[in-house]
Amino acid sequence: MSADHQCYGVPLERYQLSRADHRGQQEAVDVAAWVAEQIAKAPRMSDEQLETILEMLREPRPPVEKMTWRVRLYCGHIREVARPRSWLRPYQGTSGKETCGDCGLDPALIVAFEPLEADSNQGKPA
Ligand SMILES: [Zn+2]
Repeated sequence: MSADHQCYGVPLERYQLSRADHRGQQEAVDVAAWVAEQIAKAPRMSDEQLETILEMLREPRPPVEKMTWRVRLYCGHIREVARPRSWLRPYQGTSGKETCGDCGLDPALIVAFEPLEADSNQGKPA
């Protein structure tokens, strides 16, 4: 972990939801509903189209080194999530949401977070 990995809202157990969190959660719920609606309206894929997409997903990609974050979700539950090590926060774009394994809230906005792995430079003289 580099010293650039960020923390927000620690200690996670005592984090209080902000107005921005309530707004962000509502947006996530609205977007998920909109996406589900669009998918329901979309024409069915042909077997050929489906096979083309599956083939693309099977292509080997270089491995992405990941690190673990401890995150607090909108519902208050705390979980661990793996994200690419190059990210400075546990979310980028749409990855700021999780499905809560404890209460089932989906989507559940990540409202606070801390990197879990110790900084290899911590405690050493600069
Ligand atoms: Zn939950």
